[in-house]
Amino acid sequence: MKPHVLQESNWKTVKDESFNIAILPWGATEAHNYHLPYGTDTILAEKVAADAAEIANRNGAGCIVLPSIAYGVNTGQMEVKLCMNMRPSTQIAIVRDILEVLDKHGIKKLVILNAHGGNAFVPIIRELSLEYPHILMSAINWWTACKPDGFFKEAGDHAGELETSCMQYVAPDLVLPLEEAGDGKERKFAIDGFKEKWAWTPRRWIYISDDTGVGNPIGATPEKGERFLKCCTEKIARFLNDLSKVKSERDQYE
Ligand SMILES: [Zn+2]
Repeated sequence: MKPHVLQESNWKTVKDESFNIAILPWGATEAHNYHLPYGTDTILAEKVAADAAEIANRNGAGCIVLPSIAYGVNTGQMEVKLCMNMRPSTQIAIVRDILEVLDKHGIKKLVILNAHGGNAFVPIIRELSLEYPHILMSAINWWTACKPDGFFKEAGDHAGELETSCMQYVAPDLVLPLEEAGDGKERKFAIDGFKEKWAWTPRRWIYISDDTGVGNPIGATPEKGERFLKCCTEKIARFLNDLSKVKSERDQYE
């Protein structure tokens, strides 16, 4: 039992505890090349959230990890079998309901720990900050906490070396041998603005990848995954400790 993970905790532990920060792991349910499970993003979000909270709580951060949301924005993958799309408007409704509960129980900080590139919490937080100005909301894309250079030869974007290495470390039983994987070859945009990423439009998965992967997983090893996850988790734990000391919104600034 992990007392900092609500789903594993109990009333005896929770009722007298005062929590400072709620962490909401947010993943997706989508195809990840041939070799990684549909739950990859959710599994990694839960792992990083639980480990970072455990480290931060040793230094008195007072984190509680909420049950994760396993549905992400996958509007560009509607043609890919059983990619489970959730609209941004549904996501905002979910966050709003969660904030109502947290507010009632005196938890004034929420960290959304995101693991899926299609989820965008910036507009959601901006909008909800008008309704809950006294709750400090933030979001982390966990894989951006540490730069992948130095950890991976070619990190990849979706089910590539980075994600595959992390899953080989966290959930090896759910990862097929790499011989089963496709090469994750991506067909890039033909228009320069999109290719150079200063113009943006969603990618349509049926056109960009044959095996649903973006990035070659061939160089993945569990050791690489362990090192990268450790780097990100420790950095996020330090962030949680910093955040736990914030008493008023002004404290966030120099
Ligand atoms: Zn993923």
